[in-house]
Amino acid sequence: MRAFTYERAKDAVEAARIVAGRPDAKFIAGGTNLLDLMKLEIETPTHLVDVQDLGFDKIEKTRDGGLRIGALVTNTDLAADERVRRDYGVLTRAIVAGASGQLRNKASTAGNLLQRTRCPYFYDTNMACNKRKPGSGCAAIGGYSRQLGVIGVSNACIATFPGDMAVAMRVLDAAIETVDGGGQKRSIPIAEFHRLWGDRPEIDTVLKPGELITAVTLPRPIGGRHFYEKVRDRASYAYALVSVAAVIQRDGTGRVAFGGVAPRPWRVEAADALLPQGAAAVTARAFQGATPTRDNAFKLPLATRALASVIAQAKA
Ligand SMILES: Cc1cc2nc3c(=O)[nH]c(=O)nc-3n(C[C@H](O)[C@H](O)[C@H](O)COP(=O)(O)OP(=O)(O)OC[C@H]3O[C@@H](n4cnc5c(N)ncnc54)[C@H](O)[C@@H]3O)c2cc1C
Ligand code: SF4
Repeated sequence: MRAFTYERAKDAVEAARIVAGRPDAKFIAGGTNLLDLMKLEIETPTHLVDVQDLGFDKIEKTRDGGLRIGALVTNTDLAADERVRRDYGVLTRAIVAGASGQLRNKASTAGNLLQRTRCPYFYDTNMACNKRKPGSGCAAIGGYSRQLGVIGVSNACIATFPGDMAVAMRVLDAAIETVDGGGQKRSIPIAEFHRLWGDRPEIDTVLKPGELITAVTLPRPIGGRHFYEKVRDRASYAYALVSVAAVIQRDGTGRVAFGGVAPRPWRVEAADALLPQGAAAVTARAFQGATPTRDNAFKLPLATRALASVIAQAKA
């Protein structure tokens, strides 16, 4: 691990200003992803700005009946919140399907959205990886790609966004609130937050350098029954091969997003409209234009079966 300096930020704009002004600086929250990457020298910041003392650890009601989740609310606290469990059950289910209890106690809402891919070649510094080292190539293309993406990928990178929480947030139409070093605030719909990285896979999101996430807002509850089905290689401590987040109404209409398949939580609104016609109709539309590899083509029928299971549960 490279040597680094460390400070605990006391002011959000000041924290953003410091990180924006130093390409070698990064924010740190729970550290559960960043520190692992630093130990492997995949991330090599020489200065860390700890954002845990900024007071972004509350979940509050918004004026329009939604919720505002502070960026530093832990995954454990978010999943356990009574309002989240009652009105946004898909979010609780997705969070508890991820990582382990110990990790969720430390992992923050912002850090979870910004966790990096789990492509095995990204973690192996002996292998070519455009995401880790731009222009070096992609060892996964033509290599071992069982866990990797089937849609929204590019010739430069076929990795996926690996998280669970964000897939549920996509179904709920969450928005990410930020502030930059000039004090400028903005709200980014989650649909636009994670990039389809094209020929720049080293850039995961639309955040500008030093832009600090302060909160995630959820619109008012949409009712319905909430599901998160995660298919993985073992029952715990494993990332999704395919996951399905869904909110299904009594009449069979609803919303659905898939995880483990693309560079971002994958939702196609036109496919939502096909829910009453069944799982195959939804996935045929949602995965139109998919480019699976020989290793991961199984993800397409798996997505259909996972969604069919959710629809069956909704009807039960
Ligand atoms: C063994 C293991 C298994 C896991 N399994 C799963 C799983 O099954 N499902 C799943 O979804 N996740 C899983 N995770 C990932 C885990 O959820 C993330 O590591 C965690 O959510 C990251 O949050 P953090 O607060 O620790 O982020 P950190 O590691 O502190 O930061 C991550 C990134 O976010 C940036 N950052 C942090 N806060 C802010 C902010 N406020 N504004 C801007 N940038 C910020 C940091 O600079 C860094 O780049 C697993 C992790 C491990 C180690
Ligand atoms: S798929 Fe992406 S993350 Fe994996 S090796 Fe290729 S460029 Fe790197």
